[in-house]
Amino acid sequence: MLNNTEKVSVKRKIYVLDTSGIIGRFLSQKSPNITTNGVMKEVKDFESRIFTENALKNGDLEVCEPNEGALSNVQEVMETSGDVLRLSKVDLELVALAVTLQESYLPMVITDDYSMQNVLEIMKIPYRSVLTKGIEEIYRWVLICRGCKKIYPNDYKDPDCEICGSKLGKKRIKGHKN
Ligand SMILES: [Zn+2]
Repeated sequence: MLNNTEKVSVKRKIYVLDTSGIIGRFLSQKSPNITTNGVMKEVKDFESRIFTENALKNGDLEVCEPNEGALSNVQEVMETSGDVLRLSKVDLELVALAVTLQESYLPMVITDDYSMQNVLEIMKIPYRSVLTKGIEEIYRWVLICRGCKKIYPNDYKDPDCEICGSKLGKKRIKGHKN
């Protein structure tokens, strides 16, 4: 448990961009931006191509593929939620990339697609619409001891603090700015 708690606090934010994120010119200067090969192929208009090529060249954007486990995981959620009909293979891969990145990052998906946002909601992966990029403060919840303020992983089962015995509670904290 102690190790998990430490991991939660050192995880870095990463932005996972879908096609609408790229067309909307979303690019964080403070956190890494990442997308999939499938999204790159979907971006066809000339200006957006220049935008992504420059971003890749400058190291502001990375391209990565999801792992197999994450893909089948997301596929399953899409099938149960009924969103599978409205979502493409590219969408599936992008959500799966966010799941893959959860190992070592706090992924935030940038998408305007409602079905995609629905799947992300079910999978408890944070997302933002590119249309709201002016909103700089993002909130998230942490499980915290009301006594000694030790932070626990959100799935921690015991209602009491292992150190001081006080009750644990949820607290809203500010995420990092872009
Ligand atoms: Zn405590």
